[in-house]
Amino acid sequence: MKLYNSLTKEKDYVETITPGKVSMYHCGPTVYDHVHVGNLRSFILGDLLRRSFAYLGYEVLQVMNITDVGHLVSDGDEGDDKMTKALKREGKEVSVENMLSIARIYEASFLKDLADLNVLLPHHLPRASEHIDDDIAIIKKLEERGFTYTTSDGVYFDTSKMSDYGKLGGLNQDDGESRISGNAEKHQPADFALWKFDQNLGWDSPWGQGFPGWHIECSGMGMRYLGEQFDIHTGGSDLKSVHHNNEIAQSECATGVCPYVKYWVHGEMLNFGGAKLSKSTGGNITLQSLKEREIEPLAYRYLVLQTHYRSPMSFTYEGLKATETGLKRIRKEVIKLRELAGGTHGTVSGNSKVQFTEKIEDDLNMPQALAVFHDVLKSDLDPADKLVTLYDFDRVLGLGLEYYEEASFEISEEIQHLLNQRKEARDAKDFEASDRIRDQLSDMGYTVSDSDGEQRITKK
Ligand code: AMP
Ligand code: ZN
Repeated sequence: MKLYNSLTKEKDYVETITPGKVSMYHCGPTVYDHVHVGNLRSFILGDLLRRSFAYLGYEVLQVMNITDVGHLVSDGDEGDDKMTKALKREGKEVSVENMLSIARIYEASFLKDLADLNVLLPHHLPRASEHIDDDIAIIKKLEERGFTYTTSDGVYFDTSKMSDYGKLGGLNQDDGESRISGNAEKHQPADFALWKFDQNLGWDSPWGQGFPGWHIECSGMGMRYLGEQFDIHTGGSDLKSVHHNNEIAQSECATGVCPYVKYWVHGEMLNFGGAKLSKSTGGNITLQSLKEREIEPLAYRYLVLQTHYRSPMSFTYEGLKATETGLKRIRKEVIKLRELAGGTHGTVSGNSKVQFTEKIEDDLNMPQALAVFHDVLKSDLDPADKLVTLYDFDRVLGLGLEYYEEASFEISEEIQHLLNQRKEARDAKDFEASDRIRDQLSDMGYTVSDSDGEQRITKK
C-alpha cells in the first residue's frame, strides 16, 4: 500500500511497525452537535483505510476518539469550549455533568450516522473525558523534561524548546494573528495550551482545576490504545497545521520516541457553496437532513467514493440525487445477477481483483477502484463469477450489496398498518413518530429504510 504521507510529503510505501498488523487513530467528532456531512467524509476515509488494509490481509486495530470536553472554539486557545457553547445554546447550566449528558446525545447520533453509512465501528471509541489521567501523565512528563510553562490561564507547551516543531508544515497559514491575539502571556504565538484552568468546569490536576487541551487529548487516547508509536493517523486537512503539529510535538517530547506516527493521512474538505462546510458558516447538512429530503445515507457514501480523498469535493443536492440513482441501478443489476446465478457460487475474477487491488494500493484511489467495479459490472463474465467479484470489491467499498434485499416476503396487515402510519408521520415531517414506529418494527424483527420517498422493509 502506498499512502501520501503529510510528514514526508510523498507517497510512501507503508511498512507497518509490526508486519501484517496496522494500527490507526482517527480524529473523531466533537460531540457538541450533530456531525455534518463534511465530518462524515473524514470518517468514511478512516473506514476506507481500515477496509482496504483488511482486504489486503492485514490485522487492523482502529481507534477513534470522541471529544466531549476541551475543544475550544478557536485554535488560539481562546474562547469557550465548544461543549460549553452547546450548553449555553441549549439553555443549560455549565457543569461537567450537563456537559457529559449533552455529549452522550450527540455521540449516540454520531454512532447512528456511522451505522447508516456502513462505517465499521472502530475497535476503540474512547471519550476524552474518561482519559484525563492519561493527559495529566503526559503533561507531567513534559514538565519534567522542561517543555512547559504556566500562565494565569493554563499550562502551555513551549514550542521554542522543540527544534523541529511544525513538521507537518502549514504553520504560517492559519495561526499567526489569531493565535497571538488576546493571550500576551504566551512566549511564542505557536505555543499551545496543555491544560486550561477553570474554576467551574473541570478536573483536579497538579496545576489546578481545569480541563485538558484538545491536542493533548488525542495524544492521551492515541498512546493509551496504540502505544508510544503507531502506524497511521488521520483527520481532515484543516487539522494538520495546528492540531496535528501540536500532537506530534507534545507526544515526541514527552516520550522521546520519534516518529510518534509513521504515516499522517489527511482528507481534503467537503465544500458547500464555495466554502468549507462547517456549522459556523451555516452549512449544517447532516445525515438526518438528507433523510428528510428522502435521500438515503448510502448514496452519500457512494458520492464520497467518487472523489479521491485528497481532492476537495463540492457538495450539491443534485449531485447526490444523481448518485443515489446510480446506486439503485447497481442494486438492480445485483438482483438480476443473483437470479441469473441461481444460487451457483462463482469465483472471483483474478484479473479484475488484481486491477482493483492496484487502485486501492495506489494511495486509496477509490474513483479508479470504482471504475474497475463498473468494468466488471458491464463485462460478459459469468453471472455467478461477476456477482462474487462485485461482492468481493464491496468489502472495501462498503455499499452493502451482498446484504441488500428487496422486500420479498408477505407483509401482514398489522405491519402494513404500521408502515402506513409511518408514511403519514414522515409526510407530516413528524420524525419522532416515524422513528418510534421504525423502532416498533425493529422490535418485531424488521428493518425499515427510506429510499426515493418509499419505505423499504426487510427482515432482520
Ligand atoms: P470536529 O468535530 O470539528 O473535531 O471534526 C471532526 C473531523 O471532521 C475532523 O477530522 C475534521 O478535520 C473533519 N472535518 C471538519 N469539517 C470538514 C469538512 N468540511 N470536510 C471534510 N472534513 C471535515
Ligand atoms: Zn485529534
